[in-house]
Amino acid sequence: MDVRAQVTTVFHLDKCIGCHTCSIACKNIWTDREGTEYMWWNNVETKPGTGYPTKWEDQSKYNGGWERTKNGKLRLKSTSKKSIPFNIFHNPNLPTLDDYYEPWTYKYEDLFNAPEQSSQVTAMPKSLITGEIIEHIKSGPNWDDDLSGSPIYAENDPNLSAVSDDIRKQMFAVERLAFFYFPRICNHCLNPACVASCPSGALYKRGEDGIVLLNQERCRAWRSCISACPYKKTYYNWSTGKSEKCILCFPRIESGQAPACMHSCVGRIRYIGMTLYDADRIVEVANLDDNQLAEGMRSLILDPRDPEVIEAAQRNGVHDSVIEAAQNSPSYKFIKTWKLALPPHPEFRTLPMLWYVPPLSPVLASLDTGKVSNSTDELFESVEKFRMPISYLANLLSGGNEGLIRYSLKKMLAVRMLQRHKTVGDIERGTVDKMLKEADTTEREATEIYRLTSLATFDERFSIPPAHREEAIESVGVVQEHKASAGFGFKFAPRRGL
Ligand code: SF4
Ligand code: SF4
Repeated sequence: MDVRAQVTTVFHLDKCIGCHTCSIACKNIWTDREGTEYMWWNNVETKPGTGYPTKWEDQSKYNGGWERTKNGKLRLKSTSKKSIPFNIFHNPNLPTLDDYYEPWTYKYEDLFNAPEQSSQVTAMPKSLITGEIIEHIKSGPNWDDDLSGSPIYAENDPNLSAVSDDIRKQMFAVERLAFFYFPRICNHCLNPACVASCPSGALYKRGEDGIVLLNQERCRAWRSCISACPYKKTYYNWSTGKSEKCILCFPRIESGQAPACMHSCVGRIRYIGMTLYDADRIVEVANLDDNQLAEGMRSLILDPRDPEVIEAAQRNGVHDSVIEAAQNSPSYKFIKTWKLALPPHPEFRTLPMLWYVPPLSPVLASLDTGKVSNSTDELFESVEKFRMPISYLANLLSGGNEGLIRYSLKKMLAVRMLQRHKTVGDIERGTVDKMLKEADTTEREATEIYRLTSLATFDERFSIPPAHREEAIESVGVVQEHKASAGFGFKFAPRRGL
């Protein structure tokens, strides 16, 4: 057992209101510079939708992530040592500016300098790349905002490939339209394709907390990371000639503060905590079949109260304050204890460490009685009739495993019904008890879930200790190992004296 620490994030999709405050907080701090105009290290998409850059989930278009070879090894889809020299001047997998969007500002000076006239003065959009006026803006970082019924955006969502024609028809019937928001940052993956792809060794995974960073001094603009990341969360800065990515606000984290996106989140959907995981099993888990990957990833995360795990973590130089933070981690509860959160597209095999609690949504048919049913069968059947079909959510969050989505939704529905019984009173006690049992939970656990979901204080949502730089574990030989093998592992120099 090789125990390491990882900053692990959970986003609760039921709580996101799509206000984009997170994106703006991030933009103001990190990407308000020349060359970064089109970058959104944090972006919020509407699902169903094509996202940013457009159709990023479609790996037949971008070739991101890992694939299994016949002899059971993993290899990057986008690149290999042999292909890099041939792709120096043309990387066929890179998204173009059109796939992102042409960033723009407005000619605000016209509002002040226009001569007196009878019509209202407007500020025309102006390209931040060419400086020219843009007559018609064609796309933006959240161009499909709320367009759940659009034939151009929602209907071209790559996750719809697993949805049957019947359900698809129902999804896009005007009276049944539904959508949810999907905020995204770098997942700080356990098996990061970006790190493995970089010929210059510019990308590395920090030993002490697993944050994936990009060394600007070493970056040589190969842009392999941009192709290799299946989530498209590294970006090329045309002004500096270097790539950049989300750094999880590590200077803030090191001083005990939350990342700006979390700190500013209006819906309080973001939970960040330490987890301990077994790095010895990364290769094995990344090789599992698509629909086993999410469960496999869960099994990588270790019980931080288990004495054996604690001892192995200490042997590896994990600081006691990190172990304590892992024991109080909200992420651990959502992912491991309650099994509510799931990883986005585990089939990309980068083992992302940003997990999502799937959204509950209204049922497809309208309720005609005006009363809530007191039959558990009917209540749970509503999960199957949710406007956001289980097959769609499974394609997004569990490698197609519908059972994991059903489990999570049923448990959340039971939590909701328990609260309804307590506050509204129209659900009978017997019905609630049956629901809790069928959803594999208890009143005590359901109350804890309700509390962390709805009432949690900042300290309950954020469990990362300030950094002990003097104790930091150095990550050594990242590139060499990633080049030599399929890209796993990063050796640690253990704390002296252990
Ligand atoms: S999402 Fe994963 S592969 Fe993509 S940049 Fe982040 S760590 Fe790298
Ligand atoms: S700030 Fe929070 S609620 Fe608003 S869009 Fe971002 S993640 Fe969603």
